[in-house]
Amino acid sequence: MTIDETDPQKLQSLSQALIALQDDAFLEVLRLVFSKRIPYPEESAWHNSCYFLGIASNLLEDESDGEGGPVAWSGWSMSAAAYPDLSKYESWQGPEDGFAEGGQCQSCSVIVRGIVKHGICPVCGDDVYMT
Ligand SMILES: [Zn+2]
Repeated sequence: MTIDETDPQKLQSLSQALIALQDDAFLEVLRLVFSKRIPYPEESAWHNSCYFLGIASNLLEDESDGEGGPVAWSGWSMSAAAYPDLSKYESWQGPEDGFAEGGQCQSCSVIVRGIVKHGICPVCGDDVYMT
């Protein structure tokens, strides 16, 4: 399937299809794409690079008093979305709580978030366990 990159309707359709996917299927599409598409392919003999899905989040720490008072947010935290390692599970019922699991890859030290406890680091490809 080839998509006409100059047709905004086709790009809109593609984005709508991706938006409709559940998190596990969305991650699988990105894993397949990112395994073939790298940021610096012309430098790949001497420059490792990869795309990965990043998650940025911050938390509401103090709500407004309703009279225009300040709203306080925590600082942003950044993490990489780990690919679920479904080979570690006997049955897969689909994602439940979004990216509720967190951890750090022991090989490359990237901070990860995952939809399951057993994941695959999106940067180095090693197994990562999250809690
Ligand atoms: Zn890693």
